[in-house]
Amino acid sequence: MTRFIFITGGVVSSLGKGLSAAALGALLQARGFTVRLRKLDPYLNVDPGTMSPYQHGEVYVTDDGAETDLDLGHYERFTGVPSKRGDNVTTGRIYSTVIARERHGDYLGATVQVIPHVTDAIKEFVLADTGDADFVLCEIGGTVGDIESLPFLEAIRQLGNELGRERSLFVHLTLLPWIPSAGELKTKPTQHSVKELLGVGIQPDILLCRCDREIPPESRRKIALFCNLRPERVIPALDVDTIYQVPIAYHGQGFDTEVCRHFGLPSDPPDLGRWHHIVERVRAPEGEVSIAVVGKYTSLLDSYKSLAEALVHGGIANNARVNLNWIDSQVFESEDAVHYLEDVHGILVPGGFGERGAQGKIQAACFARERQVPYFGICFGMQMAVIEAARNLAGIEKAGSTEFGPCEEPVVGLMTEWLRGNEVVRRSAGSDLGGTMRLGAYECMLQPGSQVRDIYGADRISERHRHRYEVNINYKDRLEQVGLRFSGLSPDGVLPEIVELPEHPWYIGVQFHPELKSKPFDPHPLFTSFIKAAIEQSRLV
Ligand code: GLN
Repeated sequence: MTRFIFITGGVVSSLGKGLSAAALGALLQARGFTVRLRKLDPYLNVDPGTMSPYQHGEVYVTDDGAETDLDLGHYERFTGVPSKRGDNVTTGRIYSTVIARERHGDYLGATVQVIPHVTDAIKEFVLADTGDADFVLCEIGGTVGDIESLPFLEAIRQLGNELGRERSLFVHLTLLPWIPSAGELKTKPTQHSVKELLGVGIQPDILLCRCDREIPPESRRKIALFCNLRPERVIPALDVDTIYQVPIAYHGQGFDTEVCRHFGLPSDPPDLGRWHHIVERVRAPEGEVSIAVVGKYTSLLDSYKSLAEALVHGGIANNARVNLNWIDSQVFESEDAVHYLEDVHGILVPGGFGERGAQGKIQAACFARERQVPYFGICFGMQMAVIEAARNLAGIEKAGSTEFGPCEEPVVGLMTEWLRGNEVVRRSAGSDLGGTMRLGAYECMLQPGSQVRDIYGADRISERHRHRYEVNINYKDRLEQVGLRFSGLSPDGVLPEIVELPEHPWYIGVQFHPELKSKPFDPHPLFTSFIKAAIEQSRLV
C-alpha cells in the first residue's frame, strides 16, 4: 500500500521544502521503506527547460530526458532513487494536457473547469506510476496563499479525503522569525500560514518550523495550541552547518517518528550510519583544495547546484575540503586569467549557453593545459576545451562553435540526427527551444587504455545530457594528431562524448553532466578522480 505525504510551505519561500522532503525520504529509507519523490510546480512554463538559470536555478535532467526542477536533484542525492519525467509537473503541463483533451473532445460536451478537470489532472499525476513504493512524498512548490498554487492545494485536499488519514499526511514548513528588538521568537506568521491552509480545507498533521535558534517549549506549546496539533507534532527545523546533517537533525527532533506514528507503523530507530559518516567527513576533513569554477551564472549559485554538491562529494571521497572559487569568465576579457587562476589546484568549466563569456572559458582551458593544472570541462566546458586545442594545438585559427553564428571551421556544430538505442532522433535549426536538446541518458563507449576507462572501471557507461551542439567528429583525426584523445564515443562512433590529454596530469572534457548522478554516499568517479588530482596539484604548489 502506497502512502502519500504532501509537503507545503508557508510564510516565505526559500525555506528549503525540497531539502526537507529529500531528508524525510532518506529517513524513511533508513527505516527500510521504499520512497518516490515528486514535485508540483505552480508556474505556467511547461517545464523549467526554457527558464533562465537566474530565474530558476539549475535545470535538473532525468535519465528519461525530462528537464525538471532542481529540487529533484536534492531528492536523488538524498535517496539515490532516480527521478523520472513523471516526478515533476507544472501548471503549464497540467493545462496543456487539459486543453489538448478538450480539443480532442474527451470531455464529452462538459464545461471544462478548474474544479474538477484541472484538479483531476493534478490528482492523476500524483497517483500515476507510483510502483510499489511504500511512500510517495509530494512537494507543492510556492508558498501557501499564492493564487497560482490554489488548484494544487485543492487537489491534495481532495486526495487527503479520498485516500483517508491512514494513507495521507500533510506536512507544512514554516518560519519562526527572531525579532532582535523584542528578544523573541514570533509564532504569529506560522499561525497565519496554518489559518491560510485551513482556509482551503487542509489541517496540517505535522509542522516543521525553520528557526535560527532553539525553540523554547512554551513556543512549541503555543504553536500547537493555536494550530490544532500536539506539541510533539511541532518539529523544530534548526539551521545546520551542512545540508547532509538535515536527516540526522530531523530525526533528533522526532520528525520521522511522528510520521510513523501517524500511519501506525512500527517505530524502530532508523539506521543513520551513512549520514553520520558523511557529516563527519564534511566537518573535519584532513586536506583542503581550492577549485576555480569558471562560468557565467556565478552570481546565483543555485544555477550550479548539482555541480557544487558533486564537488563536495569528490571531497568526501578524498577526505578533503573543497573550497570553490566562483569566477565569471568575462573577467578574463579585461584582466589576465593568471591573476585568478595562479593559486588554484583545479579548474572546472561547467555547462553554459551562448557566446558571452566563451572567450574567457577558452582562456581558462588554455591556462590549465599549458600550466598542467587539472582541468575538468563539462558540456560547454568540453566544447570550449576542444576549440582551444583546435586553435592553439592544431593551428585551426578559425575554429569555433556554430552556436555563436556561422563559422568557417565548425569544430563544435549542430547535429541534426543521431541514434538513441535503435531509434533515430532528428532536430533542425528551427526546432522549438523547449525540450529539443539532446536530453537524458545516452550510452558512451570508453576506449581501452584511456584515463576515463581507468576512472570508471568500465568500458560502457551511461550519463545524462542537455545540449544542442556536439563536438564535430570530422575534426577527430586532426585533433588526435596533436594529442587530444577522443576517449569516449557514442556506441555508433558519431558523437564525441569525452576528450582527454594523455600528456597532462588530469585534463578531461565530457559532453554530458556527471554532476547530476553524484551522491554524497556514492560520489561520481570523475569528481572523485578530479579532486584527487587537485590534491596532488596542491602538493606541488
Ligand atoms: N551551449 C552548449 C550546447 O547547447 C552547451 C550546453 C551545456 O553546457 N549544457 O551544446
